[in-house]
Amino acid sequence: MQLTFDADVEAFRDEFIAFLDEHLPDEAVTAQRSCSTADIPEWARRWQRAMFDHGWLSPGNPPEFGGRNATILQQYVHRDELSKRRIYQSFNPQGLGIIAASLLSFGTDEQKQRWAVPILRAEITAALGMSEPGAGSDLASLRTSAVAGTDSGGDHFVVNGQKVWTSGAHHADVILTFVRTDPDAPKHKGISVLVIPTNAPGVVRRPFASICGVDDLDFNEVFFTDVRVPAENLVGPLNGGWGVANGSLGHERTLLWLSYADWLEQLINDFTPVTPQDRDRYATLVMDTYALRALGSIALSREARGEQDVAALSVLKLFGSEAFQDAVGYALEAAGPDGLAHPASTAPFAPFGEDATSTSWFERYARSFGGTIAGGTSEIQRGIIAQRVLGLPHARR
Ligand SMILES: Cc1cc2nc3c(=O)[nH]c(=O)nc-3n(C[C@H](O)[C@H](O)[C@H](O)COP(=O)(O)OP(=O)(O)OC[C@H]3O[C@@H](n4cnc5c(N)ncnc54)[C@H](O)[C@@H]3O)c2cc1C
Repeated sequence: MQLTFDADVEAFRDEFIAFLDEHLPDEAVTAQRSCSTADIPEWARRWQRAMFDHGWLSPGNPPEFGGRNATILQQYVHRDELSKRRIYQSFNPQGLGIIAASLLSFGTDEQKQRWAVPILRAEITAALGMSEPGAGSDLASLRTSAVAGTDSGGDHFVVNGQKVWTSGAHHADVILTFVRTDPDAPKHKGISVLVIPTNAPGVVRRPFASICGVDDLDFNEVFFTDVRVPAENLVGPLNGGWGVANGSLGHERTLLWLSYADWLEQLINDFTPVTPQDRDRYATLVMDTYALRALGSIALSREARGEQDVAALSVLKLFGSEAFQDAVGYALEAAGPDGLAHPASTAPFAPFGEDATSTSWFERYARSFGGTIAGGTSEIQRGIIAQRVLGLPHARR
């Protein structure tokens, strides 16, 4: 099966390729590397700003927000070209993909100018404060509290509580923080969203290591003790945070499967099968990659027709993240003891890309688990598919 695009989409692709050929900086400037998902090296800040200024950062956005009102198919080919060249769209992916996108959907004009535009231009970076020790899959159980008050300093909230898994928080300037503003309301109805600057008194960020090694510091615990947040930092309606949460993750979900398709395609290049068993598994990798692209293409064309099918996105997320995990596990096994060597390169250095996609096989495998947890675990996706795609009854708990 050969999937092709209409001439206008291909013309859009050609225009973007011409931009990349003309503006992509020299590789020599990329020596400084990112060390967390909110740490954007200086060269990458300049490059993200160049994409913003030319309307190529998030092409689906309007021009004043770094885009050109591109259709979903045009956004797809944009991503495709970035992926082929292993160019990271932003070294603050949650800032670009979730926080700026949420502010553009739910924020006031003032909030868009104050936070969304600087995030998009890579002048500031942002982290996402949703999960807590007792609230991950069941986000609505979150307990970090924000109590409204007024004094001589004006209307404000006082925030107390703890977040966890807050990627990049130790390098971020702001955290989009989900808080409980009405403890008496049903749990989905008492949540609000605040932009909290990380330099506010009472905010403490504690980075902690991941499975990949003691020097891999991206996750954080974030503690809030009597943090005073101006009322103007409230994003969306008071107690309307559940709608923002669904919107925020919705932004993340729409093209999330594409990252798995990109990583699977990179594996096709990086994994060298040797034994007959490796070759068999390599064939599975190739088939999974084509299957994901084909399923994703169906979802894309539905979306291009204005049809929303959130449950179909769960199929793509589940399949993409698990197919990737299987494939990278096969590559690790095929490499034998050498696959455990760390640090080691499994792909050529990608100057404009994430270092994580060329590191040791062990690290690539270990990182694949994040994909089956973040953005909704595999079990949660299976639950959605069971109920909304297969029409099975709700599980009894
Ligand atoms: C790489 C990575 C980056 C992350 N970045 C961020 C971030 O920047 N900001 C942020 O706020 N959070 C972040 N997270 C946290 C992530 O959102 C949570 O880990 C995720 O929502 C799961 O929550 P939990 O870890 O509390 O697990 P739990 O929800 O406690 O789940 C534990 C286990 O129980 C299963 N389970 C739970 N509920 C059900 C159910 N209803 N049916 C069946 N099984 C169930 C789960 O599938 C899982 O296996 C990140 C996580 C990872 C891995």
